[in-house]
Amino acid sequence: MPDKQLTEIQLDRAMGALLGLACGDALGAPYEFLPRVPYTRPIGMVGGNRMRWAPGEWTDDTAMAHGIASVAATGIDLRSVLAQDQIARNWLAWSDGPVDMGRQISAVLGAAEEGGTAHAMRTAAVHFHEDNGQRSAGNGALMRTAPVALAYLGDDDEATLWQAAQEIAALTHFERDAQEACALWCVAIRRAVLFGTFDGLRLSLERLNAERRALWTERLDEAERKQSWQFPNNGWTVAALQAAWSAIVHTAEPVDRPELGFCPAQHAPHAIERAVRCGGDTDTVGAIAGALAGARWGASALPQAWLTKIHGWPDAKADDLKRLALLTVTAGRSAVLPPTVGLSAVDIVPTAVVGGQVSAIFQNGLLRRLYLLCAGEVFTRRGAAWLKTKGAPTGAQDVDADAIAVFDEAEMSGQIEMNKETDSAQT
Ligand SMILES: [Mg+2]
Repeated sequence: MPDKQLTEIQLDRAMGALLGLACGDALGAPYEFLPRVPYTRPIGMVGGNRMRWAPGEWTDDTAMAHGIASVAATGIDLRSVLAQDQIARNWLAWSDGPVDMGRQISAVLGAAEEGGTAHAMRTAAVHFHEDNGQRSAGNGALMRTAPVALAYLGDDDEATLWQAAQEIAALTHFERDAQEACALWCVAIRRAVLFGTFDGLRLSLERLNAERRALWTERLDEAERKQSWQFPNNGWTVAALQAAWSAIVHTAEPVDRPELGFCPAQHAPHAIERAVRCGGDTDTVGAIAGALAGARWGASALPQAWLTKIHGWPDAKADDLKRLALLTVTAGRSAVLPPTVGLSAVDIVPTAVVGGQVSAIFQNGLLRRLYLLCAGEVFTRRGAAWLKTKGAPTGAQDVDADAIAVFDEAEMSGQIEMNKETDSAQT
């Protein structure tokens, strides 16, 4: 696959797609198959529910996405037989344990177990469709589709992505709605990563024929008219997509006032929370919304408190998902993270108000001010290391003191001027 050179902000957003998926999944797991949660009640990544999830544990959505991502991370074209066979094997390995699976995935994986190939799985998916009254558009393909988008970020890759997303969907979901939903959402994620916008979903409709375009246009219109909880049949891929899109478009983008604790990137966690409140298949709607919102605003927009908690099959954590995202977008060549990428902006907002030095902390959710304070080779690494060792900054005093100390040191050693140039050059 083409190795497109991404900027730091684009890398942040690519990681955000997988991390947003996992955060929505883990945040939604405690509320799955329960009534909608009103806005007067707080929600959290608390685990529990019928599957007794650990706090922060992700479910089948992220597990299956991981099965795709670990293959995409090798740089292989996901349309190849080799790639799809490996994805099929990954899913079968996952399904071998005591895991929570939807009815459709369970039936298809069970039937494909003996053959063990992508072909066997696709055939089982067709049989499920036929045995199920010509219906097989469960949300189980859409929930895991985000890593496919990351494999096709090259300039001319959109048509290829369109095809790959449908092929990976078809491994378990034969019905057209399920495959198209994945293709549409993947194009939206791709454009969110590349351009930092949400307009990819509407633009992706251009790839459909006139009849299908009219149908999906009406579906998106409906999503924008209604609230996410007004799609109660969200086990169906169309309703799940509508609920997720509704949550994204109905979440207000916070103003850019870091000194008051607000920044636009907070749209991502707010939209994910809104998606999870919809009731029904909450982890999946959260995962779908999270993948796109995370792709739009980046890993740096997701609360550190979430990122330190998320984990799940196959014994993976946030850092593993970051690594897979980086390997995928570099076609398997590099998992080295630029030191400023992925630091959490959302958490820093209320805490990094240091002596009037915070006029422009954020750019597309990427932490810019701390970068400036700690920038340059030495200071950038220090800033990253400092955040990593401290974990989620909760005490404003601590953060302020450290940031000031770093800033003072940089100023004394004459690095501030150079840092300013670095910062604006990358802006
Ligand atoms: Mg799930």
